Amino acid sequence: MKIIDSHMHTIFRPTKFFEIYRLMGVEAVISVAFYPIKPKFSETLEDLFRWMIEREPNRLAKIGISGFCGIGIHPRSIPGSLNPKIYEIIEELIYRPNVVCLGEIGLEKGTQEEIEVLSRQLAIADQNNFPVILHTPGKNKHEITKKIVELLESFKIERGVLDHISPENIDLAINSNLLIGLTVQLGKLTVEKLLKIIREYKDSWERFVLNSDLGIDIAEKYSVPIAVQRMVQEKMDIKLIERISFLNAKNLFGL
Ligand SMILES: [Zn+2]
Repeated sequence: MKIIDSHMHTIFRPTKFFEIYRLMGVEAVISVAFYPIKPKFSETLEDLFRWMIEREPNRLAKIGISGFCGIGIHPRSIPGSLNPKIYEIIEELIYRPNVVCLGEIGLEKGTQEEIEVLSRQLAIADQNNFPVILHTPGKNKHEITKKIVELLESFKIERGVLDHISPENIDLAINSNLLIGLTVQLGKLTVEKLLKIIREYKDSWERFVLNSDLGIDIAEKYSVPIAVQRMVQEKMDIKLIERISFLNAKNLFGL
């Protein structure tokens, strides 16, 4: 079964990991921007984006994985002294090869600063008709997701993934125009919970996309291929599995 991991952070993972990931069926990954400490300067993010665009796709290509990326300011990576020039830089960089979305962007606590940073980026997505990958937080999930959805509506954003969806906020995701990101990871969905959601909301199978959110934290490294294997073992419709684990992401991001 072919797999796309539609949301991870490749820079934190060693080459050896990707060799195994490839053997487990992962053909492509979308690496989205995240800086694990609050950067002091906007330039830190600029260099991070360049690293992701200029270096990572080559590293992954050598292993046979197509590496795509999303750039943007994660709500937990907003620089201490934010220079508004970063928005111009983002708008330029989205036209570089292998950049397929603005991400990961979104809200964590829903502060005024986060809303301002997200709004600026949604404006870029809207003006350039570019897809987005949106982070929804672990805490106050429903309330904060609601704020995100309201912003999406005010900017008329219709292409993207509302990510880390759980039973807590799936109602909002279903009612949005976006794809529904299902993250199989420690602290997010277990494989069991994933299967339960897919079965319960099977009418939305054309909108589900699977991902691992693998990054710097201790993680279930092979959760996505394991989940796909489980879907096959459970004899779920092959067309459904293909859509969730590969085609929906491929079509949305034009991979
Ligand atoms: Zn992430």
